[in-house]
Amino acid sequence: MSQKPEKLIDKKGLRLDGRKPDELRPIKLEVGVLSNADGSAYIEQGKNKILAAAFGPRELHPKHLALPDRMVLRCRYHMAPFSVQERKSPAPSRREVELSKVIRESLEPSIFMEYYPRTGVDIFVEVLQADGGTRCASITAASLALADAGIPMRDLVTACAAGKADDTIVLDLMDTEDKAGTADVPVALMPNLNAITLLQMDGILTSEEFETAINLALEGCRKIYTQQKDVLKEKYVGVKESEE
Ligand code: ADP
Repeated sequence: MSQKPEKLIDKKGLRLDGRKPDELRPIKLEVGVLSNADGSAYIEQGKNKILAAAFGPRELHPKHLALPDRMVLRCRYHMAPFSVQERKSPAPSRREVELSKVIRESLEPSIFMEYYPRTGVDIFVEVLQADGGTRCASITAASLALADAGIPMRDLVTACAAGKADDTIVLDLMDTEDKAGTADVPVALMPNLNAITLLQMDGILTSEEFETAINLALEGCRKIYTQQKDVLKEKYVGVKESEE
């Protein structure tokens, strides 16, 4: 395992990977990457590599889980055994069970669940490579997969974290900053509706620091949102052109 570095921010105010405090990692997004899923997306955010697949709305099994007035959204977040430096057991860990719930709850408010009573939508998130902030990157990709599956939504959900490295509030923490830093605030946002669907905090911040961190995370979400919309448009402009 890598040692905790002495400093996370250098004399010039730059981070270990050369980023400024308010800079996101480079993000690459793709939609429609899996032909057997109803909708899918792939995200690279720094060294994170994550696939999301969406299925449904479809008949729910087991049937007794079906709800008379809305669909059921199910989500499975899973990290591949090779996604971290030391082999991770393929069995679902407590952390993965928690993150599955967190991701599901951050997506639910964006979906018109009442349009499809008695049905289910399943989202599978596979983390192929993890480097901090995978819950946020997973939410960004899962929301794109839902949109790609054509599920009616109020807005996309975009997520990004901010936190504290040494004494500086920084955006989009990578693994070393996540582990050696003192706080992490993941935020998910429906940017067009300006509604937060996830807010967590790990660590300790003063109320001023918390405000700075959440505002920085929201700014990060808005930047990622532009990329999310662009990648969806790109795919569907292509579909329209091929029909003409
Ligand atoms: P998030 O990925 O949303 O930041 P955590 O804060 O729980 O969630 O995890 C931070 C990072 O720790 C992950 O992104 C990953 O890089 C690393 N990590 C998580 N689980 C393991 C594991 N079992 N072994 C090694 N590293 C892990």
